[in-house]
Amino acid sequence: MQSDSPLTSLKGVGPALAVKLGKLNLYRVDDLLFLLPLRYEDRTQLVKIGALQTGARCLVSGEVLLSETVFRGRRNLLVRLSDGSAQLTLRFFHFSRQQQAQFQVGKHVTCFGEVRRGKSGFEMIHPEYRVLRDEQEAVTDDSLTPIYPATEGVQQGRLRNLTDQALAHMVASPPEELLPGSIKEKLGMPSLADAILYLHRPPADADVKEMLAGTHPCQQRLAFEELLAHYLSLRKLRALAATEDAVAMIDGNEDVSGFVADLPFRLTAAQDRVVGDILNDLAQPHPMMRLIQGDVGSGKTVVAAIACIKSIACGVQAAIMAPTEILAEQHWRSFSDWFRPLGIEPAWLSGSQRAAARRESLAAIANGNAPLVVGTHALFQEGVDFHRLGLVVIDEQHRFGVHQRMALRDKGISADGQPHQLVMTATPIPRTLAMAAYADLDTSVIDELPPGRQPVSTIAIPETRRGEVVERVRLACASGQQAYWVCPLIEESEVLDYQAAEASYQMLTEALPDLRIGLVHGRMRAAEKERGMKTFKEGLIQLLVATTVIEVGVDVPNASLMIIENSERMGLSQLHQLRGRVGRGAVQSHCVLLYRSPLGRIAKERLAVLRDTNDGFVVAQRDLELRGPGELLGTKQTGLPDYRIANLVRDAELMPQVQITAETLHKQSEHRSAAIVRRWLGDASRYGKV
Ligand code: ADP
Ligand code: MG
Repeated sequence: MQSDSPLTSLKGVGPALAVKLGKLNLYRVDDLLFLLPLRYEDRTQLVKIGALQTGARCLVSGEVLLSETVFRGRRNLLVRLSDGSAQLTLRFFHFSRQQQAQFQVGKHVTCFGEVRRGKSGFEMIHPEYRVLRDEQEAVTDDSLTPIYPATEGVQQGRLRNLTDQALAHMVASPPEELLPGSIKEKLGMPSLADAILYLHRPPADADVKEMLAGTHPCQQRLAFEELLAHYLSLRKLRALAATEDAVAMIDGNEDVSGFVADLPFRLTAAQDRVVGDILNDLAQPHPMMRLIQGDVGSGKTVVAAIACIKSIACGVQAAIMAPTEILAEQHWRSFSDWFRPLGIEPAWLSGSQRAAARRESLAAIANGNAPLVVGTHALFQEGVDFHRLGLVVIDEQHRFGVHQRMALRDKGISADGQPHQLVMTATPIPRTLAMAAYADLDTSVIDELPPGRQPVSTIAIPETRRGEVVERVRLACASGQQAYWVCPLIEESEVLDYQAAEASYQMLTEALPDLRIGLVHGRMRAAEKERGMKTFKEGLIQLLVATTVIEVGVDVPNASLMIIENSERMGLSQLHQLRGRVGRGAVQSHCVLLYRSPLGRIAKERLAVLRDTNDGFVVAQRDLELRGPGELLGTKQTGLPDYRIANLVRDAELMPQVQITAETLHKQSEHRSAAIVRRWLGDASRYGKV
């Protein structure tokens, strides 16, 4: 048997079971080794009944004193055991005649289950049990009992049996040790095989608490190698890009400085610095792969525009892709305003576009008449052919996966080589996490807001006090300001989203008859949405009721009040993004988080974080701690990997060492790095062309 043999090569695994195991992402014998237990049970020692504690799961042995069936609404089988220290009742609701007959008075029984407090002392409900033969000793296990992640129709016993087989195979032919010895020594790490064996079958004296926390050296050993594998695979992507050709953009400096001089504002020092990074990258004959991180409102769009100017001046096309129609439309408008004086009209491409307009755009993109293209996902779909794409800008990168980024890049592959890539995100993430998630990108941070911005003051109010909030909206609008009223996101249902927004809209139009109120939601046609946003931006509408479609990037400086309904349902970063819609003008802005009581602990903490800080990095760090990295980075939608063992929050502190190890391996052994990536990510790496 080979470690990469299919599971069906194991005893007891037929096609049906293989399908069920596939649901746990188990396909090969080796995969079983990395299916780590969720927790452990201790059957290594017998616990005296007198020493039992409620809630604990224990192994107990005793003599049957009494066995009876009673009626408590339904038939119960009660078995009373004693081990001399005290008595314990086993209670069964479902039982066969044969089971009932087993519990003869005087027989010895070992049982394992959760201890509860019943009317007459300790109880176990439906424990696992074994009736011992006369003279037979109670059996205890040598190692802790692993509890594996469950899948329907595969019992724990079966999983234990399969892992036993896989472990036996591993012990007979241990996996190749791929970490450099110096690193293992330095970090005091066990070998891969030892770590795996320990985690599957921990000895009785194992530190279970540490293991449950995921901080045991054996777990850290595996997490380290997994993080390393992902890191290496992304670095490989980066290294490959460095060997690719791209148009070196040398010309066009006057166009850039002219554009910057004509802006209605001065760039912040941070914007200046980041523009410098970008222009430097673009001048290289290899594709740029740069990530711009900048808090909401830090002014990323204009930085992207400068990169576009440079590209166009150098005779290639630039494309900018945004995750939502509204955001793409807004970019299209900003870009139209900025580029009009230069005689450039950006082309527009989106999914909801009419056929004729789309044809026109596609033609201009293909024959090069459109030097600048703005759009949504539609940009990398079939039928879009660029004349000479030299720069790809992706806004709100966390909404797209690596795959989508690669797909757009591939559109630009030509005789010139690859297009330069600029990705932007308003979800600033902690440095160690960025190391893991964006290792294929160089990073620049816009760590400064344009001058004159005032921090948004934030309060949380229970929705029972909605009346006061409505009054507040009336006052703000009466004084010439504008407000947003954002309605709950209802997961995966545009219909419900829309109904909630509609209901709030009704409520507000009745409560505030003197205000001009608009409604924008995800089900509207793009043109309708645009009309709604436009009238709001122009000040014709004072209060905009919206679903979270306005979440990213919408820019209306006169709006100074943001109400968010059912804020307890939303994630921290999302709330921070929404709040970032206000605080863009000179007046003090406010954000009111309406919530439905009672608040859970996490929801309470979330709202407290927003009250206490306006700093996107702090928000991101707390979000990471509260929700885990998957949510924060949007792995649900994107191709970001699920880790089998590593946890980016818990193991973040491993990242600096992972980075050093990767550099060492890179220098020492290409073969080993490749083998590590293959072991953890498989041959078909999830990152596409690795
Ligand atoms: P984000 O980084 O969230 O995408 P935007 O690019 O939408 O931010 O910029 C927010 C607003 O700030 C826009 O109205 C933009 O024109 C304006 N802005 C950008 N840079 C500056 C600056 N240096 N000074 C003043 N306003 C700026
Ligand atoms: Mg933006």
